[in-house]
Amino acid sequence: MRRVSIFGATGSIGQNTIDLIARAPGEYDVVALTGGRNIAQLAADARRLGAELAVTAHDALLPDLRAALEGSGVEAAAGEGALVEAAGRPADWVMSAIVGAAGLAPGLRALEQGATLALANKESMVCAGALVSRTARAHGGRVLPVDSEHSAVFQALVGEDLAAVERVIITASGGAFRDWPLDDLAAATPEQAATHPNWDMGQRITIDSASMFNKALEVIETREFFGLDPAQIEVLVHPESLIHALVGFRDGALMAHVGPPDMRHAIGFALHYPERRALPVERLDLGQVATLSFRAPDETRYPALRLAREVMAAGGLAGAVFNAAKERALDRFIARDIGFLDMAAVVEEVLTRLSWRAGLIDAAMTLDNVAQVDHLARDEADRVIADRN
Ligand code: NAD
Ligand code: MG
Repeated sequence: MRRVSIFGATGSIGQNTIDLIARAPGEYDVVALTGGRNIAQLAADARRLGAELAVTAHDALLPDLRAALEGSGVEAAAGEGALVEAAGRPADWVMSAIVGAAGLAPGLRALEQGATLALANKESMVCAGALVSRTARAHGGRVLPVDSEHSAVFQALVGEDLAAVERVIITASGGAFRDWPLDDLAAATPEQAATHPNWDMGQRITIDSASMFNKALEVIETREFFGLDPAQIEVLVHPESLIHALVGFRDGALMAHVGPPDMRHAIGFALHYPERRALPVERLDLGQVATLSFRAPDETRYPALRLAREVMAAGGLAGAVFNAAKERALDRFIARDIGFLDMAAVVEEVLTRLSWRAGLIDAAMTLDNVAQVDHLARDEADRVIADRN
């Protein structure tokens, strides 16, 4: 039986992963499931799947988790340290689906024990792509992309020579506000930003889709995953979200990955790789779809895309600064302390203030240094917001 663990099991990606695992009883031995505040869901899934261990990220919720698991034989644990320990439990395949930079440490620990890491947590690649790759190489672990665009690129590259790749195009739906007049964006609310035209995802990534910070993170993730030059990576707005990415080769061929907007495709591909197994996703009827449309992204509407280019040019720990500032700006937008457009302005100001601080982004890429830069960037984002108000 394959030993599997799911980090962020109670979230959107985690639940889709559990859906696939639960359809094949007897094939998987579930080691660890982790979650946050949704103890009822975490405990119910841990019981149903017969997990060895369930971990909540919050120390204070340990008594609740213990009570919910009473008599089940599932161990309970809590806190950041317990998450990393759980990632060290031998497993063949580990889903990394915690949201945010908090996913980095458990993912690295899973790679250190030689597991295959199915990486939905794009923040790991943005904050510390070189560290993730280095850790996988050093311990015989492997990282497989789960983000739909990156899974699509990965699939288009099977059997191909990376040297023959001219460019990679990742698509973007354009998010909740793609057709809003620019003047209305300043007053957009978190509720309005948290509705996605095509995908059903967690609240944070959905808001990041409206601001295109999600696509900005994904451009950096593309560079880190496939070792491309930033100039080779393009973003294309594609409102139907059916083509997830295209790979252009030097002979002029463009290979597109087309599929329904259902994350179980990319999760399933990473779960069964290198096999392709049947998956319970809708089969597209392109005759019904009839039209696929595309347009170039407007960088005035989406300043996050410009910032991603600046971050890639700066290199080093600039990705960790960018991600942390974005996470904090998003927290403050959700708390209604700042407006929708302020998020990009805050992130840009944090990048400006921190990138000239001597030695900061050029420090060695270690987990400690990434964590330190992450803290500094969050604090700086709060300072920028205080200065603006
Ligand atoms: P979500 O908000 O639905 O779920 C997040 C999970 O992480 C939950 O289990 C939550 O309890 C846990 N969590 C949150 N904060 C945590 C912390 N500080 N420490 C430990 N655990 C914590 O998010 P999601 O939409 O499933 O996204 C998960 C990751 O996958 C993100 O990195 C996202 O960018 C990426 N991703 C998601 C989708 C999607 O369709 N949802 C698609 C591509 C990539
Ligand atoms: Mg994506």
